[in-house]
Amino acid sequence: MNSKLSAVKGMNDLLPEQAEVWEQVESKVSEVFRQYGYRPIRTPIVESTPVFVRAIGEVTDIVEKEMYSFTDALNGEALTLRPENTAAVVRAAIEHNLLYDGPRRLWYFGPMFRHERPQKGRYRQFHQFGVEALGFDQPESDAEQIFMVTRLFKALGLTGSFAPKLQLNSLGMPEDRARHREALVQYFQSHHSQLDEDSQRRLGSNPLRILDSKNPEMAELIRLAPQLPEFLGEHAKHFQQRLLKSLEDQGIAFELNPRLVRGLDYYNLTVFEWVTDRLGAQATVCGGGRYDSLVERMGGKPAAATGFAIGAERLILLVQEAQGLASPQAPDAYLIHFGQGACEPAFKLAEQLRDRGLKVVFDPGQTSAKSQMKKADSSGADLALLIGEDESLAGEVTVKPLRGQGQQATMPVSQLLATMDRREQDHA
Ligand code: ATP
Ligand code: MG
Repeated sequence: MNSKLSAVKGMNDLLPEQAEVWEQVESKVSEVFRQYGYRPIRTPIVESTPVFVRAIGEVTDIVEKEMYSFTDALNGEALTLRPENTAAVVRAAIEHNLLYDGPRRLWYFGPMFRHERPQKGRYRQFHQFGVEALGFDQPESDAEQIFMVTRLFKALGLTGSFAPKLQLNSLGMPEDRARHREALVQYFQSHHSQLDEDSQRRLGSNPLRILDSKNPEMAELIRLAPQLPEFLGEHAKHFQQRLLKSLEDQGIAFELNPRLVRGLDYYNLTVFEWVTDRLGAQATVCGGGRYDSLVERMGGKPAAATGFAIGAERLILLVQEAQGLASPQAPDAYLIHFGQGACEPAFKLAEQLRDRGLKVVFDPGQTSAKSQMKKADSSGADLALLIGEDESLAGEVTVKPLRGQGQQATMPVSQLLATMDRREQDHA
């Protein structure tokens, strides 16, 4: 026998039961995003490596140790499986001049790739729902994105203790960050011996990144470090006040977290995350913020922007814990055929019913009526439609309700179809 093949570690198959839940979540997400005027965009899964290095920053966990980068053996190009999608959406917006007649609201869904240690809620291929508002510089855009996520969580049944909690911070303007950076460098230099290896390296290049270290031994040192909010200038403060006012007007609860910095270099002013205590160590369900300099950094004309990404696996784990979705829809009817000559009319009837909009399951081959009946039952279908030798000869079908207390009845196939047509007209 040939040896078994298996999926790549940290990259999951979604079997039908799972995939059906995903489909439901996907449709809720697109519904909510559309309500706010966001339009879909789909970009390739592979981009040239500089797209991500330039956007995310050289000195970040993602670029330093999580990217699937490789050289295309056929032409020597440096390529990367996308670890996130903001960089790619901005690349596409610039390449196709999407902002030429004004700002754009875009959303995407798809797989992302990061070489991390797989565990619950953390995978090497995972998926994100994300939005990017390109060309918007007012806090109302940040607020609206927070409304969207709040609305989505509600629509998915994430209420009460299942509702993730919103944390907010401001990373200020570049000049605020420069002053903060100075203070950080001074502080960490005076505690140099307590820095782990990563942080010592980052001290010279990107001291802010020390703040998102996940090393527990660094936690106390980071807790006492100078915090960004103390360095915010007037513009940043005013911007944040307007955002907070919008959230309060909508009754959206939040917590200001002065230590929230996000793991990517492109953010400024608003940053936010939704965290949950229901998924163990993988607490962040959604992360986002403003990135006013990214479009220019990626080679476009300057354009302010703001966006977020939701981790689909974590969101769906949470939805399943909260049991916030009805089970996926069963077929309307299951066609059962047995005996001489029954297969052909049954096969034909299935297609005629689908013409009328029904979901119908038909099993080819010759299995016993009993075993087909069992399958019909476990499929969750409302009706079993039976065609045996007798029905087949008479041009009839037996309709057997599988749920509720309707009566079994045998009738001409033409009558069943006529009933269906009448019902369709009534609904029209
Ligand atoms: P974390 O701190 O958990 O590593 P992150 O800050 O690296 O998250 P972002 O880059 O902000 O994550 O991505 C947005 C969201 O995507 C996260 O909040 C999370 O829900 C999800 N996500 C990120 N990395 C993974 C992963 N490896 N597996 C599953 N989901 C992920
Ligand atoms: Mg990460």
